[in-house]
Amino acid sequence: MKKLLEQLRADYPQIAFVYGDAFYWSPQDKSVTYCESSNDPAVATWSLLHEVSHGILDHTSYKSDFELMELEVAAWHHALNLGKKYHVRIDQEHIQDCLDTYRDWLHRRSTCPTCSMVSVQKDPKSYECFNCRCVWHVSNSRFCRPYRLKKTVIA
Ligand SMILES: [Zn+2]
Ligand SMILES: [Zn+2]
Repeated sequence: MKKLLEQLRADYPQIAFVYGDAFYWSPQDKSVTYCESSNDPAVATWSLLHEVSHGILDHTSYKSDFELMELEVAAWHHALNLGKKYHVRIDQEHIQDCLDTYRDWLHRRSTCPTCSMVSVQKDPKSYECFNCRCVWHVSNSRFCRPYRLKKTVIA
């Protein structure tokens, strides 16, 4: 990942690369935070390409969870092409896992706590059930939630 990081730094000087405890894109600072993953270096490389793609595509804001989901799909699509440039092949299954994590999360957020009906988002911070009219608030959505771990969850 170190070599890729150096190449990306040289090729995308407009994006800041910051060492941290997770992978994410920050639109405010135009920075990609990355971390070292010793147990799965391939996933770390893919994550890096994905976050940089958010930056290159200049993903800044979204009005709804659904829109965020679309940006995630776009970022992965771009990451695949970027991977070709840097000779990194991103596993399709990994991409599907990441997107499934978002879908699950979206489903949880959009399910009415009272009657379990899946409803539509009213505004960035709330949903309203069209069945029982219950309104519930959700936390701010953000780019790049950790993907679902298939085997054991590391606490
Ligand atoms: Zn309801
Ligand atoms: Zn993302």
